[in-house]
Amino acid sequence: MTNTEKQICYRISSSIKESFEESGFLRKDELLDYIKQTVDLEVSYKPRDMRTEIVNFIYESILKNKLYKEFLSGKTLMCSKCISIKPMSRFNTYKHNGETIKKTICKKCEYDNHKTWIKNNKEKQKEYDKKKYIKNRQRYLDNYKIWQKNNKSTHNLYNRQYKARLYVIKKIGRDLSDKEHKLINNLVKNEGLTGLKIYKSGVIS
Ligand SMILES: [Zn+2]
Repeated sequence: MTNTEKQICYRISSSIKESFEESGFLRKDELLDYIKQTVDLEVSYKPRDMRTEIVNFIYESILKNKLYKEFLSGKTLMCSKCISIKPMSRFNTYKHNGETIKKTICKKCEYDNHKTWIKNNKEKQKEYDKKKYIKNRQRYLDNYKIWQKNNKSTHNLYNRQYKARLYVIKKIGRDLSDKEHKLINNLVKNEGLTGLKIYKSGVIS
């Protein structure tokens, strides 16, 4: 047998061993037929003699497999989830009142459950992040509105002070001193006066 053919053997035998986990272990009398079918399907281009050689090689290698030996020895349990009969070592144990008890589902099903749990949890996490984002976004918008409002009133005040000063300047026909500038600003801010009212009050002439 060439190296290429040996590689074919390893590939097929490992895929058969994997299928044991997925769809249950084959009985010894089913195994040989199954290998023949698989080899005929996968390497139909090989001459019959070579195919037979390959089948025997795979058969021997699976019979030597530790897990399959355990299965053949009858030390098996049926998984309550995938309903496959599997070697006992394919079931985890847990402690209960100091006693070691085999779980009723096989390691593969346990692993699948775990994967599903992680997947579901990820979706929950995503959902949570989304909610958090929406909540924060609302808070951001609220803060922005407050900021805008405050800023608007500041801006509005500056605008009213500017207009009042301009009005007074026009009326008195000259520039304001620093003192008068501050006075108008304060009257607009604290008394809510307009340029007209300030001018009419006579504080600046
Ligand atoms: Zn199972």
